[in-house]
Amino acid sequence: MAYVILQPCMEEKSGDCVEVCPVDCIEEGPDQFYIDPEICIDCGACVTACPVDAIVEEYEMTPEDEPFLEKAEKFYGIK
Ligand code: SF4
Repeated sequence: MAYVILQPCMEEKSGDCVEVCPVDCIEEGPDQFYIDPEICIDCGACVTACPVDAIVEEYEMTPEDEPFLEKAEKFYGIK
């Protein structure tokens, strides 16, 4: 399991999450920030740092959120 960055990041892109991640697994992409699902240790620090509540745990995702996990996997070359 991992945390996933959703739609609100695309308007905000604050990057506050990058500063707090203890394993440095958040990177800026062309349209939003992305969490590397293979490195994330599920600590939850990024969730409280995000000003627009864009980050959820994978199991909390709705079906509409699923493309955001797929985008992250593509960004990191996992799929
Ligand atoms: Fe980084 Fe923790 Fe957020 Fe995963 S949950 S992206 S390890 S800050």
